[in-house]
Amino acid sequence: MELQEPAASAPCWGCGRNIGPQDAYCRYCGKGQGDNVPWYYGHVGIIAMTVLGLGPFSLGYVWKSPRLSRAAKWVYTVLILGFTWFMIAALFRLWAAINAALTGGLAGYGL
Ligand SMILES: [Zn+2]
Repeated sequence: MELQEPAASAPCWGCGRNIGPQDAYCRYCGKGQGDNVPWYYGHVGIIAMTVLGLGPFSLGYVWKSPRLSRAAKWVYTVLILGFTWFMIAALFRLWAAINAALTGGLAGYGL
């Protein structure tokens, strides 16, 4: 006999299996539902993670998040890629400036 799923059910955003609409946490994968979705899938969490360290890797959370609309996901994708590009360009300029300073400094000593 096959295990019956609840008559009134909603799919879990994490694993896609049917759970009860009142369930606070998925009974299969344990992910919080509704108000119990982890904070890092919300707007503040995604922005904080991107800026404070994850950079482009926060895109994984953006696209998995049940809290963001499809349009918001695209907006975040563009912003995160832009931010990543900005950081790479800034690091490159910093490296070029240090390099120039070192080379110029040594040349100043006749080396
Ligand atoms: Zn689940």
